[in-house]
Amino acid sequence: MIVKLSRVAVDETETLDAAAAGHGLPPETARRLIRAEGEDLERLLTAAAALRDRRTGRIVTYSRKVFIPLTNLCRDSCGYCTFVRRPGDPRAHTMTPEEVLAVAEAGRRAGCKEALFSLGDKPELRYPTYRRWLDERGYPSTITYLRDMCALVLAETGLLPHANPGVMTHEDIAALRPVTVSMGVMLEGTSPALLAKGGAHRGAPDKVPEARLATIAAAGELAVPFTTGLLIGIGETPEERVDALLAIKALHDRYGHVQEVIIQNFRAKPDIRMRDWPEPGPLEMVRTIAIARLLFGHEINVQAPPNLTLAGFDAYLRAGLNDWGGISPVTRDHINPERAWPELERLRAAMADTGFTLRERLGIAPEYARRPAQFLAPTLHERVHAWTDETGLVRSEKERWS
Ligand code: SF4
Repeated sequence: MIVKLSRVAVDETETLDAAAAGHGLPPETARRLIRAEGEDLERLLTAAAALRDRRTGRIVTYSRKVFIPLTNLCRDSCGYCTFVRRPGDPRAHTMTPEEVLAVAEAGRRAGCKEALFSLGDKPELRYPTYRRWLDERGYPSTITYLRDMCALVLAETGLLPHANPGVMTHEDIAALRPVTVSMGVMLEGTSPALLAKGGAHRGAPDKVPEARLATIAAAGELAVPFTTGLLIGIGETPEERVDALLAIKALHDRYGHVQEVIIQNFRAKPDIRMRDWPEPGPLEMVRTIAIARLLFGHEINVQAPPNLTLAGFDAYLRAGLNDWGGISPVTRDHINPERAWPELERLRAAMADTGFTLRERLGIAPEYARRPAQFLAPTLHERVHAWTDETGLVRSEKERWS
């Protein structure tokens, strides 16, 4: 028995060494290590951090963005959502072109380069008053309105749009591609429990995993740099987190277009259906970040939102994270309004304290910015090129002027 256990330990050390070298992590090892503790946890984190260091060194990135919540109406009802409003609620709002432009312009003046369009999913299928609002302006759908707003922001401010409107068809993505540098939809999870009675996604037809995976696949067919990820702690088991990561990986292996996987933690808030739900602990976050890093090998960026950090910045860095996502100097986080973004200078100083350098990236990840012919509409090549250096990261002001 002792001999057998030792053999297992040796095999797993070899497996983690191979994963740290970028050869991926076998699913069965990932499913076991998603509950790692003690020495196993240490070895998992060490391997994940080593792979990150091999891949991007001690650089951790962020995108200077402005958040444009185009409409907070949505046909879905997720148990954790604080963003959505119903018609009749005085806080329900769809932004006019003038409002969109004013926010984008404030972002431009503050040095932002990304305009993150985040909005509810297909509210026109649920609310006749909103349907009329679109009709009066000549738009057959929210996506067509979004497309024009992305084009407006691009033309008037030069900010690069990233669109996050929920489930999209092939045609939706094709229409948005010429006016965006990337798109995204969080897979969130693939556990059947989420859609069951009392589950986080009960009453949310756009959270059916197959629909979201079809969106990610359509983006792959159209060579759109794509951001997705998990929302953890909403009713899935740790092993189901691994399953969801594997579902993303299967699509990335086919199309090579997933630029980033976000690992986001559920936060309980007083005004949500899941207000009494337990929040996932910091250990669950670091394990999931580390497993994501190792499963994808050298391929992707791993991000966690810095304003929802439970364990401190350094714990996530120790787990192999290399990106903090979009940080806005001008708008609050409309999805988690109670959690302020860290100030950039504070984040930069915290990174320096842990031996990392904070670098700015665009809404398109550096690996994809370096391959514009494959991953960008021709109309966007010049602007992305002007803003980035040979690594695909944002050039310094001085470099841009010279
Ligand atoms: S789909 Fe998004 S905006 Fe709509 S209810 Fe769910 S979390 Fe909120």
